[in-house]
Amino acid sequence: MEHSGELGDVGRSETPVVEQKPTSGGFLAQMTSNPLFSAGFGLIGVGFGLTILRQGLNLGATALRRRLLVTLEIPSKDKSYLWFLQWMSQQTKKNARHLAVETSYKQHDNGSVSTTFSLVPGPGRHLFRWRGAWISVSRERDGKMMDLTTGSPFETITLTTLSSDRDVFTQLLNEAQKLALAKQEGKTVIYTSWGPEWRPFGMPRKRRLLDSVILDDGVSERIVRDVRDFIGNGKWYNERGIPYRRGYLLYGPPGSGKSSFIQALAGTLEYNICILNLSERGLTDDRLNHLLSNVPERSIMLLEDIDAAFQKRKASDEQGYQSMITFSGLLNALDGVASAEERIVFMTTNHAELLDQALVRPGRIDMKEYLGNATPSQIRRMFLRFYEGRTDLAELFVKKLRGKQVSTAALQGHFVYWKDKPEEAVENTHTLYE
Ligand code: ADP
Repeated sequence: MEHSGELGDVGRSETPVVEQKPTSGGFLAQMTSNPLFSAGFGLIGVGFGLTILRQGLNLGATALRRRLLVTLEIPSKDKSYLWFLQWMSQQTKKNARHLAVETSYKQHDNGSVSTTFSLVPGPGRHLFRWRGAWISVSRERDGKMMDLTTGSPFETITLTTLSSDRDVFTQLLNEAQKLALAKQEGKTVIYTSWGPEWRPFGMPRKRRLLDSVILDDGVSERIVRDVRDFIGNGKWYNERGIPYRRGYLLYGPPGSGKSSFIQALAGTLEYNICILNLSERGLTDDRLNHLLSNVPERSIMLLEDIDAAFQKRKASDEQGYQSMITFSGLLNALDGVASAEERIVFMTTNHAELLDQALVRPGRIDMKEYLGNATPSQIRRMFLRFYEGRTDLAELFVKKLRGKQVSTAALQGHFVYWKDKPEEAVENTHTLYE
């Protein structure tokens, strides 16, 4: 009430307002007539106009860019990311100025490792022309965001090209994929776990021939027949509501060819291998579960040292780390792989006696095979593989080793040592067990 009274008073006393009007008009007139002030206003006006124009242009440019350009984002999480980088390294070999190095290891059949460097476009902007289209590539690193599992920064590659050339993206990705796959053709890709995901380990390896791994009579044939029978029988499993998976256990002493056989089997079937060592440091039940549910297609899952889950966290590596995986975690992970996709899981152990019956039941392990020390038949066949046609010496060699426990790995070492010298190999048989 008080307020309205005061306002009323002010409203009614018009005199001061009327009196002020000519004053303010005079002031304005003074200002506009002052050349300095009017120039200032003029400038402000021009500045304002320019700002509006610039914003208008910006908006126009953005709209134009939206209409005329297309962009494609490839995050580093995506499978095509590495394919694209490799492909790109071939395109920009001559003219890229800012390069980054990607190192890969290659393991040869004799076990030696060589390193190759490929130069891929580094972070920043790159412009190149491909199939008549100009493509701008911007590789950006997110400085703050780190992929905690791999320790590498998140990256995004953004490709930009003219709208009219948008088809070029599909062609480009197809070609990058083809290039990546061609590198793998006739080879076995070994995947290892990298945090919670699978990453190719080194370069794809030359396929190992099945008959280069010499197992006891009939073992290899039995396993191959079983796996072949399993593959391509998805309908049968589906119709009966059974998870389409099959588990194999290869057990026996070290150096009996378990890993080698699985590699050769994968090569024969034209499959890749995902290797996971259960005693690997930092492996937890969650990670194991995640890894097993996300195996790349057409690959054999290989769980090494399956007994690690049974050792009640006693085993630790030289740095004192130990695997955190539990027995129930392992069972869950194996059972969890209930997708309709086919799943072949191979497990290996040197200590079958440590395995729990709950693991060795159909559905988890459907087939068990013992790969032991060399039997006379294996010794003979291995000898003849190294010294073709020397049947007489092979028999003598077998005789000298009768009753001795020798691993097939040790035999291989012996034959490599006495390469091209079968007589010496036989003569020095004693070095194998003494
Ligand atoms: P495991 O996995 O049983 O410990 P590996 O497969 O790692 O044994 O074998 C170690 C090495 O010995 C490999 O170089 C492999 O070629 C050789 N080797 C072992 N067993 C055999 C076998 N039965 N036939 C051929 N080579 C073998």
